[in-house]
Amino acid sequence: MISIPSVTLNDGAPFPELGLGTYNLRGDEGVSSIVSAIHTGYRLLDTAVNYENEHEVGEAVRRSGVDRDELIVTSKIPGRHHGRQQAIDSIRGSLGLLGLDRIDLQLIHWPNPSVGKYVDTWLGMIEAREQGLVRSIGVSNFTEAMLTELIDETGVVPAVNQVELHPYFPQAALRAFHAEHGIRTESWSPLARRSELLNEQLLRELAVVHDVTPTQLVLRWHVQLGSTPIPKSADSDRQRENANVFGFALTDDQVELISGLERGRLWDGDPNTHEEM
Ligand code: NAP
Repeated sequence: MISIPSVTLNDGAPFPELGLGTYNLRGDEGVSSIVSAIHTGYRLLDTAVNYENEHEVGEAVRRSGVDRDELIVTSKIPGRHHGRQQAIDSIRGSLGLLGLDRIDLQLIHWPNPSVGKYVDTWLGMIEAREQGLVRSIGVSNFTEAMLTELIDETGVVPAVNQVELHPYFPQAALRAFHAEHGIRTESWSPLARRSELLNEQLLRELAVVHDVTPTQLVLRWHVQLGSTPIPKSADSDRQRENANVFGFALTDDQVELISGLERGRLWDGDPNTHEEM
């Protein structure tokens, strides 16, 4: 089994340096894939109301036989559940589907600024944490301005901001802001899904130097940036490959070279304009 190291969040909770994305892992096959990841050593599982697989994630937690306290289950409040009481109701709904009595990390999935309710949603999450429904609270797809507003309005700093992050979109300014405020960065689409990233000549060459695959090189780059990647794979061999990135290190120059692949977002997922319900 691969041992994935952890860091400590700003609320004292442990948080793995790499986790499993579960988008599109559904049904019995999905449960088996998630169980295989847990048996490989994954401890952080990323789901959301909108992935419609919270049941599968909870089932995999039970089937894995791994102590519940070792696992960090993340879910996310969708846009249609924004609002103070709605957030608490959404969390209770997720707990029901997961079949668990606690969510370890609860996020706001998208800020949906035109709706104007993310501060209220955040207040509901603070309340849910006080009620013991969730252990840590954070956000996803928040900009610096939105994070500043949450902190100024409530005094509670999110533990995590899960954002689009990969070599094509390294998010240097946002990561610096997170570091300044003690917010852990988490990378979604860390492999730049559906792009040609893994075929980039630079990555192929550096992978040969380190005797690893381009995928491992990219995931190691996330780890060294101080961001937790959550690669999704349905396949147990690829899950193992993806988690096996703690036995080599890139030089600072190599990290810089990979960041130099920057060219922008994968699709038009700008949180100032893109909204999801
Ligand atoms: P990703 O993890 O960057 O890429 C997943 C794709 O890469 C899958 O098609 C997978 O196929 C393939 N893959 C995985 N490991 C591989 C390997 N070693 N070699 C070759 N191909 C490999 O993309 P993602 O699923 O979009 O992002 C990861 C997770 O982030 C999601 O599952 C979800 O949990 C989260 N997410 C969050 C948001 C948000 O708004 N907060 C948005 C998007 C995603 P196989 O399954 O066949 O291996």
